Amino acid sequence: MVSRVIPVDPFDLVLFGATGDLAKRKILPGLFHRFEVGQMPPEARIIGSARTEMDAEAFRQSTKDAIEEFTPDSPNRAKTLAAFLERLDYVTVDVSSDQGWQDLAQVLRPDVVRAFYLSVGPSLFADIAGRLHECGLATPDSRIVVEKPFGRDLASARALNEGLRACFEEHQIYRIDHYLGKETVQNLMALRFANSLFEPLWNATHVDHVQITVAESIGIDGRGAYYDQSGAMRDMVQNHLVQLLCLTAMEPPSKFTPNAVRDEKVKVIEALDPVEPADIARGQYRADTGGDSYRDHVGNSSSSTESFIAMKVSVANWRWSGTPFYLRTGKRLRARESEIAVVFRDPPHTIFPNVGRLRGNVLVIRLQPDEGITLRTTIKDPGPGGLRLSEVSLDMSFADALGADVRQQDAYERLVMDVIRGDQTLFMRGDEVEAAWAWVDPIIRNWEETGDQPAAYDPGSSGPEEALMLMHRDGRRWRHIGG
Ligand code: NAD
Repeated sequence: MVSRVIPVDPFDLVLFGATGDLAKRKILPGLFHRFEVGQMPPEARIIGSARTEMDAEAFRQSTKDAIEEFTPDSPNRAKTLAAFLERLDYVTVDVSSDQGWQDLAQVLRPDVVRAFYLSVGPSLFADIAGRLHECGLATPDSRIVVEKPFGRDLASARALNEGLRACFEEHQIYRIDHYLGKETVQNLMALRFANSLFEPLWNATHVDHVQITVAESIGIDGRGAYYDQSGAMRDMVQNHLVQLLCLTAMEPPSKFTPNAVRDEKVKVIEALDPVEPADIARGQYRADTGGDSYRDHVGNSSSSTESFIAMKVSVANWRWSGTPFYLRTGKRLRARESEIAVVFRDPPHTIFPNVGRLRGNVLVIRLQPDEGITLRTTIKDPGPGGLRLSEVSLDMSFADALGADVRQQDAYERLVMDVIRGDQTLFMRGDEVEAAWAWVDPIIRNWEETGDQPAAYDPGSSGPEEALMLMHRDGRRWRHIGG
């Protein structure tokens, strides 16, 4: 299958935090891939910026190293990398001082799209937005891109929004949740709204429950200080899992425009019931033998931060009343696996003798490790010997559908091009982020007030016993993590 690439308009992209981890691992390699496929016009320029003193040549060299390390799947790299590096420039700016802003002003062109990508900590967002505004760099055709974490509660998210909106209009602000850039997540919208098969069944009458799992096999991995102040609820549920829930539960937007889609997502968040403590299982990985324990990894022997959370969530609206959404995410679990599983109700009656209860169909939208969609169905066991039934999955793996030689686009790649195109559909709007915090805040506050302690779970397991009970007591079971 040949994908059609439409070049974007000429642009100046200023990458603040260009020497950081995210820039090297994701953003610069993503831009390189878009260059390789011809989506970047010859006039496109990427201006790296950080407080590290270096010249453009040194930045090109460090970008070259990063791309060589992080684009192992690029067969033509040797041919195209030099031309890509020519697009790069570098300006030293210490964003918390006056230094460097005028140098930046001098390299920016007046007549092209301007994107300011803030790949820096959130404490710098308002400062950078303010300086861009004061120095007259934030032109009407400018966009500003910010990374998670977008606040740690409603108050701080509001303050961040206010800081950004003091200098940019909402239609210029791109809040990245890279889960929304995944191929499958967008395919979920195509599946629901470009097919007539599923939508009539997409409601409480036909869906028994939905399971959303984002399981990671790695532990805290060098991010201990940040993670211990955050935990799974702030780090994963408030943003990624809520976003996946929204796309699964939302009403069909009247059109595929950024605000029509985001309006529907906000309505879902506003329809979420408060979650009772009994509907939440918090966990922390702890190896009795020592070594592989959350507390060792974060260097805090009395930490009560959760590295795992499972919860039963009710979307209190006409479509979903009575159909729970079970969310689960955690570190150091059995496997790295993310999926949305829509579990349909069991057939009401079986006409087949000796088969017992027939199980409902399950539509699985798989995000990690590979992306694809499967539908569990019941068929006749092939061959002679009477009519026996067995379960098979109708499988649509994107790697197979696209052909083995077609590389799947990384989420950052797609999102950064959407910024240039001015398409906010896959970015979170300010009110969406605030609504998610307003739902999450009381849960966290309750833990703090009651001194709630997460239950221990074994590294490499599927989480604490309490999470299993959350389902068992409803007569349901989590899908197996790890194949
Ligand atoms: P990092 O610490 O590796 O890099 C930070 C960058 O900011 C560096 O280039 C540094 O020079 C620059 N910087 C810091 N203070 C500065 C100042 N005063 N003036 C100018 N530049 C300054 O961080 P990172 O991991 O690349 O993360 C960047 C942002 O992205 C953070 O908000 C982080 O939470 C978020 N994020 C990162 C990841 C990831 O995988 N690394 C994933 C999701 C979100």
